[in-house]
Amino acid sequence: MDQNVIKILCAHGVPEEMKKRLAEIGQVFSLNSHDEVEIKEAIRDKHVFVVRSKPRVTRDIIESASQLKVVARPGVGIDNIDQEACREKGIRIINTPEASTSSVAELTIGLAIALLRRIYYGCNLLKRGEWVKGKCTGRTIEGKTWGVIGFGGIGRRVAELVKAFGAEVYAYDPYVEEGVFVEKGVRRALSLNELLAKSDIVSLHVVLNQETENMISEEAISKMKRGAYLINTSRGKVVDQKALYQALLSGQLGGVALDVYDTEPPTDQELLGLENVICTPHIGGNTEEVFVRATDILIVKLKEVLGLSGGQPLGY
Ligand code: NAD
Repeated sequence: MDQNVIKILCAHGVPEEMKKRLAEIGQVFSLNSHDEVEIKEAIRDKHVFVVRSKPRVTRDIIESASQLKVVARPGVGIDNIDQEACREKGIRIINTPEASTSSVAELTIGLAIALLRRIYYGCNLLKRGEWVKGKCTGRTIEGKTWGVIGFGGIGRRVAELVKAFGAEVYAYDPYVEEGVFVEKGVRRALSLNELLAKSDIVSLHVVLNQETENMISEEAISKMKRGAYLINTSRGKVVDQKALYQALLSGQLGGVALDVYDTEPPTDQELLGLENVICTPHIGGNTEEVFVRATDILIVKLKEVLGLSGGQPLGY
C-alpha cells in the first residue's frame, strides 16, 4: 500500500506516544469515546484500526469498514475483536504477545521469592511495629524442583531465570518439540501428573482454552507434593480457586501466588485473605518497558502486513 494513503484510526485510550509512532506509517485519526455509532462512522474509509482491550470490535463495526485491512492490538488479548468476522472479510488481526514475555516471567520469579521468603508477611508485621523473625522463616529456590506448565514464550523465560537460582527445572507442554526442552536444558515431563508429583514449586504459563480451563483442579492439586507452592500468572480460569482454598487450609499447598483470577477484579476474599496467599492485580505485563516494546513490535508488524517493509504485503 502507498504510505501516503494509509489511514489509521486509533480507538479511545490509545496513548499519544503510540499515535506519534503510528504517524511513521500513515495518517492518524483519533476517537474520543467507545461509542459504536461513532466508531462505525469514523471507520468507513480507514485501513487500520488500533484498539486496546476496549472497545468491542463487533461484526457490525467490521461490516461498516469497507477499506479495513488490519485490526492492531498492542498487547495480548484479542477477545474483544470479532475474529470470525475479520476472517470472513480477510482482515488481519495483529497483536504483540512477545512484548510482555520478560515482564511476566520476572513477576513470576518475584512472586515466588516473595512467597517462599514470606516477604510480604514480614513487611506487614514490621510496619505494625512487630519484629518477629521466627514467623518469617522461608525457603530457598536453590535445590528445589520447579515445574513449568506451558513451555511457550513466558514458560521458557521463567525456566532460564529459575535455572540461575540452582533449581532443577521440569516442563510440561505436549505441543512443544522435544528439541526445545533439550536446547533449554530442562527435563521434559511426559504428563501433567508427572510434573505435579515431582515439583516443589509449580508455575503456570499455559494459554486459556477448553483443555487448560480448570487444569489445576482438586484432583490435580492432590497429585502435588504436600506443601508445594503454586504461582499463577497465566489466566485465572486455569485454576479452580475453591480447590486452592481448601488445599491451603489443609496444608496440601504451602502457599499460592496469584496475578490472575477467575473473575477480575476478584471477589474471592476468603482465598485472598489467607496468610499464605500473595496476590497482585494482573500486573504481569504492566511495565514501562512492555509499552515501549509493544509499540516497536506493532510498528514492525504493521509495516510487514501493509507491505511497507520492502516485501509483499502478508495475507492478501
Ligand atoms: P505462548 O502461546 O507463548 O505459550 C503458551 C504455551 O501453552 C504454548 O507453548 C502451548 O503449547 C502451551 N499449552 C497449550 N495447551 C497446553 C496444555 N494443555 N498443557 C500444557 N501446555 C499447553 O503464551 P505466553 O506468551 O507464554 O503466555 C502464557 C500465558 O501468560 C497466557 O495465558 C497469557 O495469557 C498469560 N499472560 C499473562 C500476563 C499477565 O499480565 N499476567 C501477560 C501476558 C501473558
